[in-house]
Amino acid sequence: AQATRRSTREWQQADAAHFLHPFTDTAALAKKGARIITKAENIYLWDSEGHKILDGMSGLWCVNTGYSQPSLIEAANRQMKELPYYNAFFQTSTIPAIELAELLAQVTPPQFKHVFYGTSGSESNDTVVRLVRHYWALQGQPERQVIIARKNGYHGSTMAGASLSGMAYMHAQGGLPIPNITHIQQPFWYELGGDMSPDEFGKVAAGWLEERILEVGPEKVAAFIGEPIQGAGGVIIPPKTYWPEIQRICDKYGILLVSDEVICGFGRTGNWFGCETMGSKPDLMTFAKGVTAGYVPLGGVMVSDRVADVLIEKGGEFEHGYTYSGHPVACAVAVANIKLMQQQKLVEHVRDDVGPYLAQQFETLRDHPLVGEAVSCGLMGAIQLVKDKATRQFFPSSLEVGMVCRGHCFGNGLVMRAVGDRMVIAPPLIITRAQIDEMMTLIRRCLDLTL
Ligand code: PLP
Repeated sequence: AQATRRSTREWQQADAAHFLHPFTDTAALAKKGARIITKAENIYLWDSEGHKILDGMSGLWCVNTGYSQPSLIEAANRQMKELPYYNAFFQTSTIPAIELAELLAQVTPPQFKHVFYGTSGSESNDTVVRLVRHYWALQGQPERQVIIARKNGYHGSTMAGASLSGMAYMHAQGGLPIPNITHIQQPFWYELGGDMSPDEFGKVAAGWLEERILEVGPEKVAAFIGEPIQGAGGVIIPPKTYWPEIQRICDKYGILLVSDEVICGFGRTGNWFGCETMGSKPDLMTFAKGVTAGYVPLGGVMVSDRVADVLIEKGGEFEHGYTYSGHPVACAVAVANIKLMQQQKLVEHVRDDVGPYLAQQFETLRDHPLVGEAVSCGLMGAIQLVKDKATRQFFPSSLEVGMVCRGHCFGNGLVMRAVGDRMVIAPPLIITRAQIDEMMTLIRRCLDLTL
């Protein structure tokens, strides 16, 4: 009904006239016209021209339980009627925010009993920057200010989020990064591993953290932040030796370890949280996206006892928070979403069934002449398109091979994202084996068209 009120062209013209899209070249979009998505169900989208598209990216890595889940819609509706908003400032609370905090303490690793709410991943990482520095000040070490992050990591788009992110093209705009943030190289074996085995490389890559700590001075380092698997940077799955070694180094210097679980959290990697899959025990964990399956915005920081005890006992008032911290409608949807994941055993479904099945199917892509590596963990996967498989040589970036492949995907009914020449996939966790087969047929067709 929405789509027929105006023609697609009219919607595109209105879009180009008034809407500045995120991470988008507006002039280029205005020429081409946006694809207008009008409807969704299960793992499929429809556009204003009636084309059906398999959403291999769960929106933006968030619609983990799939579109049109009745219990989430009902939870929002019920809460909207009962109490659409109240804040958590000034000694007040709301029932959905309390219920969710309790539930999060159950599904997160045992060191976490407390949550600080925000509305997005970026905001949650902003909270982390303030929280870790405040923690060290309360511990009598205010000089511990430096946060170490990684090149090609993604932590958001606000001033602090984009500064933690290791994307040079983002730092080039808007006067970034903010002070006291430094980046080490990413654990990307396929590009940087040379002759080393993945396991050897994992330890070497973790060693870059120790080198940087020693360069900065351990007494000045507050925290290390990383995604268990870098998502927006191209689904870079570190060798299994990497995270345990990172943990050992953080412990050695007493540095807080922050796991950005905005993508990896809530079942994506086959455990509730990516740190469980990768083998680390973080002090802080940021989340967003999958907590509400993207139906409404919600994010937050899980705070371990190590930090929470100091904050609560010595901290007094933490001068930080957002109007929508603990928004009751968002929290009610999150509670319904987590309960749905538990009832449908979605984490087990990813870990024991569709995750291993996707990995098997990805294996078969390695024969394709364009595919350098095809890797996955749970329901996150990447296909590295290369010029020469034997030498692991990439295409010149000017050829934009990934964008060509992405275009074929979109034209043929599949959302698959290109990060340079790395094609990434993160379908909803409810996907079935038959739907993975359907997705693989589309992927193969699009790789052939890209040749
Ligand atoms: N952290 C990670 C790992 C992300 O992937 C993202 C978004 O993609 C963010 C943080 C930022 O989240 P948001 O876009 O909700 O601010």
